Amino acid sequence: MECVDTSALRAAIVEFLDAERAAGVYEPRSDSWMRSFDRDFSRRLGERGWLGVTWPREYGGREQSHVARLTITEELLRGGAPVASHWIGERQIGPAILRYGSDALKAEFLPSIAAGELTFCLGMSESESGSDLAAVRTTATLDGEDFVVEGTKIWTTNAHHSQYAYVLACTDREADKGARLSEMIVDMDDPQVEVRPILDLAGEHHFNEVAFDGVRVPAGRVIGEVGNGWAQVTAQLAFERGGPERFLSTYPLLGALAEAVADDPRAAPAIGGLLARLRALRALAWSVAMLMDAGEAPIAQAAILKMMGTRFEQDVVEAARALVPGEPDPTDAGLLGMVAGAQLAMPGISLRGGATEILSGIVARTIKAG
Ligand SMILES: Cc1cc2nc3c(=O)[nH]c(=O)nc-3n(C[C@H](O)[C@H](O)[C@H](O)COP(=O)(O)OP(=O)(O)OC[C@H]3O[C@@H](n4cnc5c(N)ncnc54)[C@H](O)[C@@H]3O)c2cc1C
Repeated sequence: MECVDTSALRAAIVEFLDAERAAGVYEPRSDSWMRSFDRDFSRRLGERGWLGVTWPREYGGREQSHVARLTITEELLRGGAPVASHWIGERQIGPAILRYGSDALKAEFLPSIAAGELTFCLGMSESESGSDLAAVRTTATLDGEDFVVEGTKIWTTNAHHSQYAYVLACTDREADKGARLSEMIVDMDDPQVEVRPILDLAGEHHFNEVAFDGVRVPAGRVIGEVGNGWAQVTAQLAFERGGPERFLSTYPLLGALAEAVADDPRAAPAIGGLLARLRALRALAWSVAMLMDAGEAPIAQAAILKMMGTRFEQDVVEAARALVPGEPDPTDAGLLGMVAGAQLAMPGISLRGGATEILSGIVARTIKAG
């Protein structure tokens, strides 16, 4: 593993972001990893070697640590940068392919993800199976050399921008959850895929419903073993839940708020409390990254980080509502607009990536099992 000077890396990213902002490429915003889409920006990150840094060089990576990757993701999120194009692919589909995929899948997808060229969406949730992922009803039936995929996914973030979908499907209806699911990659430009937009509370389009109507997926596009999807997706969720986006999504708001109330002594306890919690969350994220560097899938630690992180993000919004005079206003270009945007995103924060109650169950079961 290549040793990286994380302070120099952090400084280089901050300098890059300052230049991008000065060139008018983006305005910082909360929740940018889901809402700010700019493929050219992702390509520029890829050119600088800041995507897929933990992956082997032969697949476009840099063989650096998860701690180096955390340094990059922290700064991108703190800067509210437009990272949605590569986020899902780089965060969890690439690592899933690397861990379980065939050499052919690795060669086909990893270099393009690391170059910032590819957008993936996550086809896990369905209308009757969000928390209970094991109950997905989308089927993939083997027919000759292909699986034929039938079913509908929902809440599929940025499916309308994606070239590929990761799909969790049932490949054996008779089997129990340990053997009934498989993970596969589906081409989004297949004519049998239909993407239907869903607007969120703020009236923005990032969610979709995605229907697969007899899409033929070559068997070689299955990630890992057919029937091993449950074990694989559980490990993948550690990547989904254990990153700094679970507590830094509202950082642009926290930064602007701290600046706005810096001279108000009555605000100090609230801001100080939030910053202390932020420090603890960062320490937890670093320990998750170090466990990943040690080759582990820290499922319980990632669940704890997400639970505590999303609660923190919600408290940032509550603090902003209490401390900023005036009504939150989505049309406002300043702080009141940022508060309104974050407030409208708030209900989804604790649901996406696994609801808090479900995460509590994972933590309790893991601790009980020792
Ligand atoms: C902003 C956002 C982005 C998302 N993006 C994606 C995406 O890209 N791809 C994707 O596949 N999905 C995505 N999702 C869906 C997300 O993963 C699901 O919303 C989540 O898993 C919860 O599932 P559900 O909505 O079906 O709620 P349900 O599972 O119906 O849960 C509703 C409530 O019941 C509680 N509950 C359910 N079961 C239990 C239980 N056993 N014990 C205690 N309480 C329980 C839950 O905690 C929750 O509060 C996204 C969601 C949001 C909000």
